[in-house]
Amino acid sequence: MYKSVDREILDELVAIVGEDGVIVDAEGLEPYTHDETVGLQADPEVVVKVQDAQQIAQIMKLASRERIPVVPRAGGQGLSGGSVATCGGIILSVERMNRVLEIDTDNLMVTVEPGVITGDLRRAVEAEGLFYPPDPASIDSCCIGGNLAEGAGGPGAVKYGTTKDYVCGLEAVLPSGDIVQMGGKLVKNVTGYRLMDLLVGSEGTLAIVTKIIFRLLPLPQLRVDLLVPYDDFRAAAQTVSDIIRLRVVPTALEFMERDIVQACEAVTEEKAPYRDAAAQLLITIDGNHQDQIDADMETVAETCLDNGAIDVLVARDRPTSDRLWKARRLIIEAINHACPVNHMEDVVVPRSRIPELLEGIQEIAQTHSVRIWNFGHAGDGNVHVTLMKDELDDEAWEEIVPPAREAIYRLALSLGGQLTAEHGIGATRRGYLPLAVGEAQVQLMRGIKQTFDPHNILNPAKILP
Ligand SMILES: Cc1cc2nc3c(=O)[nH]c(=O)nc-3n(C[C@H](O)[C@H](O)[C@H](O)COP(=O)(O)OP(=O)(O)OC[C@H]3O[C@@H](n4cnc5c(N)ncnc54)[C@H](O)[C@@H]3O)c2cc1C
Repeated sequence: MYKSVDREILDELVAIVGEDGVIVDAEGLEPYTHDETVGLQADPEVVVKVQDAQQIAQIMKLASRERIPVVPRAGGQGLSGGSVATCGGIILSVERMNRVLEIDTDNLMVTVEPGVITGDLRRAVEAEGLFYPPDPASIDSCCIGGNLAEGAGGPGAVKYGTTKDYVCGLEAVLPSGDIVQMGGKLVKNVTGYRLMDLLVGSEGTLAIVTKIIFRLLPLPQLRVDLLVPYDDFRAAAQTVSDIIRLRVVPTALEFMERDIVQACEAVTEEKAPYRDAAAQLLITIDGNHQDQIDADMETVAETCLDNGAIDVLVARDRPTSDRLWKARRLIIEAINHACPVNHMEDVVVPRSRIPELLEGIQEIAQTHSVRIWNFGHAGDGNVHVTLMKDELDDEAWEEIVPPAREAIYRLALSLGGQLTAEHGIGATRRGYLPLAVGEAQVQLMRGIKQTFDPHNILNPAKILP
């Protein structure tokens, strides 16, 4: 169905980006054969490192003409295989497009290229007293282009939302090679269909984003973090929905179970506080007024203790907060360290249904005789449910995963939830899209894909079954 990348095409690619931007040797290709999805790997035929929209436009015209798949790639930290070349072809890496182009302090906007590392963007605007809130736990290795294409969230989404809430303008290259501008430094804009919003979360299947304008907020001046251990995971889960019901909106409200807390010790090389508690909540409250923070903290602490918390540890200074968050940000690494073969899901439910979700997952673990570890952004209703292979042999593991993951999806859907909150459908969940949204919506999505990409060359075999 697709043409292979031959010598003539390689010559054309070299003419577009230069010799040093084209990789074909096995060693050079290896880092691009996978993202962070456990067990997924595929060889691209060539990796092309682009520098600007014009180069991308020329590559897309070439790929369209020759019918070659093109897979956009930013930091390669995805957890659903979005930037893996499962149909071969070209990996188009935006890693060299890594400039913060302008911090506009008059309009509180920032213009960036897609290869900027998210943490670098945050630090650049913080130096101006401004705040770019989205904070995926992979913040120092993933890039803005990947965040936009995945609609990435992070712990701070409870209060500040996700990447989609900050995008005001885009430049993108269509599969045809046309370069389009959408939106701008505009707080409001209803000119036609919101195509810009369609690109957010489109997982590199509709267009390649080459420039992004984000709105910024003033940097909050104060924050406090609370670590709250529980004897019973149900009590921690109930606290999450109680806090939201009380109309306190913490900045972050993270949940982790004992096994995960203890697994983190192996990677942080530090003993975790309350390491034997059945579950822990990590809660952040930020703002600009000490009175408000104190009042919110009191309400949150009382709610935790009313639900049976063992203690409420308060971190008021930056080093203590950083120590608590360091472990949280290393959870995925800790899980992979504890059990290199695992399967992570990313379901989301209304926040009030978190207790039922966690109860149901316990039952699924028993029914399918598999150990499941849970952690995640509970304040968003988002739990990363992780099946662990442990001592199971390969055959048993292959038999257990499909029905167990379907049971997890059906449970989330029955609670008014969805399959994925922030990791995306990508290559790994596309077979389940009809279950999640129904055939009518799948057909609408196919129509959108066909309109943007009639030859199906841009990141094929992603999202759609
Ligand atoms: C340890 C760890 C922690 C994580 N924590 C979080 C978290 O808290 N929250 C969260 O949301 N995710 C999290 N993730 C998942 C991952 O970091 C995010 O999905 C992130 O947005 C991926 O960005 P990336 O730059 O690595 O993208 P990549 O993996 O390179 O690509 C992701 C998708 O974006 C597309 N893409 C890349 N660049 C472009 C472009 N310029 N134009 C169009 N499409 C493009 C790709 O084709 C692919 O489909 C975590 C991952 C790890 C490994």
